[in-house]
Amino acid sequence: MSNKKLEGKVAIITGGASGIGKATACLFAEHGARVLIADIQDELGQEVAASIDSEKCSYFHCDVADEEQVKAMVEWTVQKHGQLDIMFSNAGIIRATKGTSGSTQSVLDLDFVAFDHLFAVNVRGMAACVKHAALAMVERGVRGSIICTASVCASSAGDHDADYFMSKHAVLGLVRSASKQLGQHGIRVNSISPYVVATPLMCNLMGKEAEETEKFFEGLTKLKGVVVKEKHVADAVLFLASGDSEVTASLFSIVCIATQIISIAR
Ligand code: NAD
Repeated sequence: MSNKKLEGKVAIITGGASGIGKATACLFAEHGARVLIADIQDELGQEVAASIDSEKCSYFHCDVADEEQVKAMVEWTVQKHGQLDIMFSNAGIIRATKGTSGSTQSVLDLDFVAFDHLFAVNVRGMAACVKHAALAMVERGVRGSIICTASVCASSAGDHDADYFMSKHAVLGLVRSASKQLGQHGIRVNSISPYVVATPLMCNLMGKEAEETEKFFEGLTKLKGVVVKEKHVADAVLFLASGDSEVTASLFSIVCIATQIISIAR
């Protein structure tokens, strides 16, 4: 018997050109899925798709902040593969810099140009991905799995990046509503809340190289001597995407506090 958990499945991964999305694309393909990587970093996304397997993995330019692009991405996937089983809505940003200095620390500093851009990606973009994936699944009677990347920031308060914390709280609200409403169609909606992983997003935020960032995080991680890698988060996403989590129904949030230490909370 094959131990591939996603044989025959079709998945979209937003933000798949880098970090957590890229690691998940590799793992999903290893487990037999056909994967569409969606991102705005075209060159990087195409490289990642080609490095995985050009038969199994393709790249599609999609700015999730634009609903029309999200709709086109889902339609293209269904046209190419005939179905959509898994949506990993993962693209996200921190400290949106569009037209601003980008330094949003406290609520006292909120810059609403940056705020609107960050919410357009982190919240509206996630909602558009959930909506269009669910429409495609419902139309075809697919008992699919939708996973959104939240963050530990989704259930805690921070003394910095107020807009990011707010946006990730909103992702949990989206997942809670969607899981309740889509359950009747057999569609599971869950979230994943990683702690700190030294991805480009985090390294840019810290202004440090990956190795230095990891060293810094090692001191923060609760399990001594452990550094959380993208692969560990991808393992949790695989669990939620695969049949393994079918009996866990919907509305679970996997919180990766330290690698291997994954708490599942309602
Ligand atoms: P990353 O920067 O490596 O990857 C994010 C990807 O999203 C990039 O490839 C980027 O081009 C893409 N992206 C950005 N805006 C987009 C848009 N408008 N449309 C489509 N794609 C877009 O960062 P990452 O750490 O892998 O982040 C992935 C997710 O994980 C994000 O939602 C982030 O908030 C969340 N997260 C990360 C951490 C961490 O410590 N790295 C912790 C908690 C949550």
